[in-house]
Amino acid sequence: MARDDPPKSGIRDAILWHLTYTLGKDPDHAQLFDWRLALSHAVRDRIVDRWMESARATRRAGARRVYYLSMEFLIGRLLQDNIVNLQLADETQAAVDSFGLDYRALLLDEPDAALGNGGLGRLAACFMESLATIGCPAHGYGIRYEHGLFRQSFAAGRQVEAPEDWLVQPFVWQFERPEARFTLGFGGHVATHQGKPVWEPESFVQSEAFDVPVIGWPGNWANTLRLWAGRAVDPFDLSRFNAGDFTAAAEAEALARTISRVLYPQDSTEKGKRLRLTQEYFFSAASIRDILRRFEGEHGDLRLLPRKVAIQLNDTHPAIAGPELLRILHDERGLPFDEALDITRACVNYTNHTLLPEALESWGEGLFSDLLPRHLQIIERIDAADARAHPDRRGGARDQGRVRMGELAFMLSNRVNGVSALHTGLMKTTVFADRHRLHPDRIVNQTNGVTPRRWLLGCNPRLSRLICETIGRGWIADLEQLQRLEPHVADDGWLGRFAAAKAANKADLCDWTLREHGVALAPDAIFDVQIKRIHEYKRQHLNILEAIALWQAMRDDPGAGWPTRVKIFAGKAAPGYVLAKQIIRLINDVAAVVNADPATNERLQILYLPNYNVTLAERLIPAADLSEQISTAGKEASGTGNMKFALNGAPTIGTLDGANVEIRERVGAENFFLFGLTAEEAEARRLVPDHAGRAIAADPRLARAIEAIRSGSFSPDEPDRYGDIVANLTGADYFLVCSDFADYWRAQRQVDRAYADRDGWARMAARNLARSGWFSSDRAIRGYMQDIWGAQSLLGRE
Ligand code: PLP
Repeated sequence: MARDDPPKSGIRDAILWHLTYTLGKDPDHAQLFDWRLALSHAVRDRIVDRWMESARATRRAGARRVYYLSMEFLIGRLLQDNIVNLQLADETQAAVDSFGLDYRALLLDEPDAALGNGGLGRLAACFMESLATIGCPAHGYGIRYEHGLFRQSFAAGRQVEAPEDWLVQPFVWQFERPEARFTLGFGGHVATHQGKPVWEPESFVQSEAFDVPVIGWPGNWANTLRLWAGRAVDPFDLSRFNAGDFTAAAEAEALARTISRVLYPQDSTEKGKRLRLTQEYFFSAASIRDILRRFEGEHGDLRLLPRKVAIQLNDTHPAIAGPELLRILHDERGLPFDEALDITRACVNYTNHTLLPEALESWGEGLFSDLLPRHLQIIERIDAADARAHPDRRGGARDQGRVRMGELAFMLSNRVNGVSALHTGLMKTTVFADRHRLHPDRIVNQTNGVTPRRWLLGCNPRLSRLICETIGRGWIADLEQLQRLEPHVADDGWLGRFAAAKAANKADLCDWTLREHGVALAPDAIFDVQIKRIHEYKRQHLNILEAIALWQAMRDDPGAGWPTRVKIFAGKAAPGYVLAKQIIRLINDVAAVVNADPATNERLQILYLPNYNVTLAERLIPAADLSEQISTAGKEASGTGNMKFALNGAPTIGTLDGANVEIRERVGAENFFLFGLTAEEAEARRLVPDHAGRAIAADPRLARAIEAIRSGSFSPDEPDRYGDIVANLTGADYFLVCSDFADYWRAQRQVDRAYADRDGWARMAARNLARSGWFSSDRAIRGYMQDIWGAQSLLGRE
């Protein structure tokens, strides 16, 4: 190995070069970790040229750039994705084999970058990948959390949270940009100089940039994900140190770093107030400055901004970016307020992700003005302008002493989008009904999507190989081509290969659960999977109630020909969400009893896997037979897990909620197990007095399952452990678990019957695959480019 340039020709030599010269390791003594880092460097080298060329092409074209602002990017592991997108999988595997290493183990050695809670953050990650695949010039902006989403384990069935520490290891994919810093102010007051308001902040923090290149398929274009970290303006106070106050000497740095220390483990409940608002302003303000710096370097005239810049707010977390942009344009660049407002509105767009009232962000005005006094004044002016333009409006951004971020984001956006057809419709009639009346063209729909590179090609190599052998490789960039599988579904030989791929994926999962968790699963069982955040609206408790009822029915009638079922759960609860944590414990308690019952455990197993993350999703989804998407209708904005299962050949059991509606339309009603109230019926049912009591009285199975929980069958040492859950179910039951139980039970028995016909089931699963092409995030991003951003692909132009 020569000390010359790292070899560009072959990945094998490049790995050895980096092992030696970047990591300083003798191959004879290198650990898996060293090999993984060396491989990551070798892969990164192959991204950099593309990355720089993409940046040059964007500058040359003077094209409109897209800026995707998101508090969360749940990117997971990047090594495999990058290898896949560079089309290096075969060569890399051969190189790794030649070193006598296990390729899969090497890929799995990388820790997940868990910079997100769930669907919203994972969507942002899929979108970044699709933007690069399409060749749309784009930046993602987020926060480089030192500690991503907490690590979950169970102690006696209870969720235990431990800090996540992905940055303890070198994160090879990032490039530190110490030169790209901005100084951001907080607090203070607004003074008047020469008749103009001037914000005089009380304290300052610096934002330091870390860039992660995101390479698209098949390796032709790369964009940047820029993550901000908090740094002190004066990191070290030498005089305090010399005076012997060593801790205080570093206090400023510790405080500044706190801003990017932790991802809030909240999913859809409001919490962590001051630091959370600080984080939101910190990353939004740094991003706006960076956007303006780049724009002014390229174009100059601020009136051109809307033609060159499209900003997307992923939920309201970055909504303060709007007032910040307006503030800079008006206060610092001197544009008249109304013009600054028009320019801001022409640049900014907002994606709404939830209708749950508790998840719609709002801040007390006291806190807001304490932290961002000038922004509160600006919001007042925006509100006043809006009230003048729409004297009949029902409310503004400021309401009863609070700043409502959804209203603010709506007022400052050119387009506001929902994330599934149903959700967008409900936005128009519920949270934004009044705004929609005033601006009937502003709300548009962009149904979510998922990247097929990670969620099929990368995570399910067996199925991908079969697809490629059948219809070629065009589907990877054009997922609708999966339709070309349709004629093969009727071919028994092909269907056998399809079913064999699923069986092999299930066998892999069985090996893994045995190895990692000491649990032997029945490989021939229906793998019935519900993996997602734990939330009452997602109704994991409906699933476990059905499991209890099924167990009881099996005990009553062991000879009834029950098919074997494995119910798999995974998911984290927000640490402060008490009921969600009780649901976790209940599932674990029920699992312990049911799995230990010799009368049924050949037929029913329940497994709750800890620490759900992207890697676990990549492991479970290819092995699933049945996808549980059972939220209360009207509550799940879209879901993206639902799409991943369908794409991997797992039919859905689900309600008419979120994107389930569109999945069912596309895969066909006969390939989807529908149950439950519609969103409209759910609203009406809530008005029926004692709807839960009536449902329980009408269904002995449900009554008995609840009674088993109530009487302590699953918690004999503490019979009233689940008193709150039982009270909730039998009382208000806002999420209508009881009302939907009977129909869920019916649909599950329909699943039993359908699964007994193995060929029929395989056909249904294959049709889910063949008809899921529309759920690609490439399609979603093209929709944003056309309907919202007015952005163009730069690939193939030069
Ligand atoms: N969390 C992770 C790790 C995921 O991969 C996904 C989507 O696949 C989600 C959360 C969102 O799941 P759902 O759409 O089912 O809520």
